[in-house]
Amino acid sequence: MLSIEQARQACAELAAESNSLDDELLTLTELNHRVISEDLFAGVDVPPFNNSAMDGYAICSSHTEKSLFISQRIAAGDRALALEQGTAARIFTGAPVPKGADAVVMQENCEADHDKIEIKKWPKPGENIRCAGEDLRRGDPLLRRGDRVNSAKLASLASCGIHRARVFKRPKVTVFSTGNELVPPGEHLKVDQIFDSNRPMLQAFLSQLEVDVVHSEILDDDRDKTQRALQSAAEKSDIVITAGGVSVGEEDHVKAALEKVGRLDLWKVCMKPGKPLSLGHIGDTLFIGLPGNPVSAYVSMFLFGQQIVRGIAGEKNWQHRSLKIPANFTSNKVRKRPEFMRVQIQDQGLIPYPHQGSGVLSSLVWADALALIPAETPIKHGHLLEVYPL
Ligand code: AMP
Ligand code: MG
Repeated sequence: MLSIEQARQACAELAAESNSLDDELLTLTELNHRVISEDLFAGVDVPPFNNSAMDGYAICSSHTEKSLFISQRIAAGDRALALEQGTAARIFTGAPVPKGADAVVMQENCEADHDKIEIKKWPKPGENIRCAGEDLRRGDPLLRRGDRVNSAKLASLASCGIHRARVFKRPKVTVFSTGNELVPPGEHLKVDQIFDSNRPMLQAFLSQLEVDVVHSEILDDDRDKTQRALQSAAEKSDIVITAGGVSVGEEDHVKAALEKVGRLDLWKVCMKPGKPLSLGHIGDTLFIGLPGNPVSAYVSMFLFGQQIVRGIAGEKNWQHRSLKIPANFTSNKVRKRPEFMRVQIQDQGLIPYPHQGSGVLSSLVWADALALIPAETPIKHGHLLEVYPL
């Protein structure tokens, strides 16, 4: 059995070993959530010119006269003339600061009377001026190959005038739920059947990662059918993900089927929920076999599947974010395996969901984080736990 850290390492290595996907050129508005495949640099200074951070009056701070004539009016988008000596320029936020001015007095600190102002509070040099290049200088690195774009990064590209960029193509993924008891939501539920929640969960999870789900299906608990389905999925996918059927029961056929059509690289992680995790290959296609219990499937996808999918998608600079937060509970239970507890982060510390069963999806709905409870360790109030925000 692998430790959590070893499993995480194995996921990173699996993703790193795989070949890079092709890339494509997209326009700015198509870039959100995509993974950049080239290093990008600022081609201009941002902002491109010194401009006013306030509505007010641009002046030369070394002048001493408190009463000044207003010699020009500069709004955002206007061209500024050089400041006449001994005068002030009416100026608005975002407008270019005229040559000869080195400070802007905010209008609240002036008294205006027709074409003159009286300055109540003298500014320091540079006050209320946003300097050219204070955000980015021409040539500064913007995004690296392997960075995933978000709205802030997209805005930064736009601020430099970048209107298109190269990104990795979306990885193709097939998703299977396995189990004779499963029925897709929307169909009639017969006695002893349950609705399939893993496939919708995985599709939703994957859609946040901008992958292309090329196929998804419920597989019966049948060795031959599973084998054929895995083989044909591998032919059209970069990644095949299954949920369920991965233990060693008589009705668990995924592991055996994978061993027939491909290769199993890792099996079983010392953790709860989610011990039975399979990772492997079918040809060049990566295989991720998640446990069937819905909470285990989610936690395994969150901790391990996500890392592989992001890696295959070309995202090289990603790591799980974790924080240390004190427990606001006690637990004397001695655990054989480390446990990812569904918790809420509150002001006083972490609160666990009362029912931590691996089939209780409500625990994940309620939780905003997973707290790692180490094995063999009773938890007292204030015990600092490693927490993974969901
Ligand atoms: P398995 O890993 O196939 O032994 O499944 C473990 C438990 O999870 C069983 O109670 C299954 O009925 C349940 N389960 C498996 N797959 C799903 C699914 N797609 N949606 C909901 N429950 C599932
Ligand atoms: Mg099953």
